[in-house]
Amino acid sequence: MILPALTEAKSPYWRPIKYSLFPPLGLATLAAYCNDDDEINLQDEHVEELFIEDEPDIVVIQVYITNAFRSYKIADHYRKKGTYVCLGGLHVTSLPEEAALHADSIFLGPGEECWPRFLNEFKNGIAQKTYTSTQRTIEFIPPVRRDLIKRHLYLVPNSIVVSRGCPYHCDFCYKDAFFEGGKSFYTQKVDAALSEIERLPGRHLYFLDDHLLGNQKFASALFDGMQGMNRVFQGASTIDAILRGDLIEKAAGAGMRSVFIGFETLNPHNLSQSNKKQNIGKNYKEAIQRLHSLGIMINGSFVFGLDDDDKYVFDRTVEWGVENGLTTSTYHILTPYPGTRLFKQMEQEKRILHYNWDLYDTRQVVYQTKSITEWELKKGYNKAYKDFYSWRNVFRASITHDNFKHIIKHFTYAGGWKKFEPLWNFIIKTKGLNKMLPLLEAVLSKANKRTQNGKIFPSPFPAIA
Ligand code: SF4
Repeated sequence: MILPALTEAKSPYWRPIKYSLFPPLGLATLAAYCNDDDEINLQDEHVEELFIEDEPDIVVIQVYITNAFRSYKIADHYRKKGTYVCLGGLHVTSLPEEAALHADSIFLGPGEECWPRFLNEFKNGIAQKTYTSTQRTIEFIPPVRRDLIKRHLYLVPNSIVVSRGCPYHCDFCYKDAFFEGGKSFYTQKVDAALSEIERLPGRHLYFLDDHLLGNQKFASALFDGMQGMNRVFQGASTIDAILRGDLIEKAAGAGMRSVFIGFETLNPHNLSQSNKKQNIGKNYKEAIQRLHSLGIMINGSFVFGLDDDDKYVFDRTVEWGVENGLTTSTYHILTPYPGTRLFKQMEQEKRILHYNWDLYDTRQVVYQTKSITEWELKKGYNKAYKDFYSWRNVFRASITHDNFKHIIKHFTYAGGWKKFEPLWNFIIKTKGLNKMLPLLEAVLSKANKRTQNGKIFPSPFPAIA
């Protein structure tokens, strides 16, 4: 089982930390359907050099857009040797005809139902060319084969997924294409999710679900079950789920310490053009204040290049993030992924510049822009990252919090994430990433209650806060 990497992620000289965060859970989940006596070698090229001179019966390759060409190369290499090659993942589901040229079987959509079907048919010599997921459930999936994961190579080995998909339908998102033809949001049983959590050592967890708070009933029961487990965790949510009811308080009580939020844009026209309904008319600032009062740090995600963006959008978005105390920001250049409504629309309008998937990494402009030039978009995107993570702005954003511990956590997390890339590179090379976990857990410790006498330890910057 192979997760190939894009070129940048496997450079022998420089390995950005973002490629060494999470192990390949999807493949480890599929591995769980194999027989006990099936010999499995799970390789992740983001963190190790691939060994492809072996001669297995089957090779399974997970394909996403920027690793697609690399995946096809590896697939062709194995097919030449007579190995049976299976390709699946987001990109295969979006462009099955392209992927089929390099595979014996392709898998469209999530694999929980069609992968075991394939295994059975392969053993009986009747494997088909295309497997399409129709029945969707993860209520009875076997436990992920975590024994196949080389934990020491990842900063966040305890990543976990307890749901699939999300209840929304943003135009630029892969989700609808991947889940076409069946349910597009479903969860594990709460007890199974809690057992999976209990299998994970240490305190830290990272939920990789698209929307951890998307099913209120499930999330509420999950957080109830996590009370007293002494965990700290990170996950993703939408603005509306944070503002609704008391789910976010329950999440904080269960150990949520940072949340990824797709703000995407501060422009309502852009939101409606992107069908990002769940953000429209929502009070971003109220959600931010609520999160900060619970001691939850925020990683805001933003998209540049939507049709209503002007050349000031970059400065405006950075300043907004700093003023509102976002701990980290992730910026993207709008990217029309194949299979999405955005891609179809841009193709109709003849705005796609090329189909070099290597460059569909949300850092390059691959379509014709409207209200700004391509050059302005690329330049503004680079500048936004530089400005948001300047020491000055990291400091300014930190001191928006009203308690000292949150300020320190914010400063350490944001600075550590973006300001010490050479150190991360060294740690990755020396295979010491896993040793950094206690530091991460310390940074994610509770911030909204503090001090020996139970009083809030106030910010030393009251005038600014
Ligand atoms: S909310 Fe996020 S995961 Fe859901 S459709 Fe929109 S972008 Fe995709």
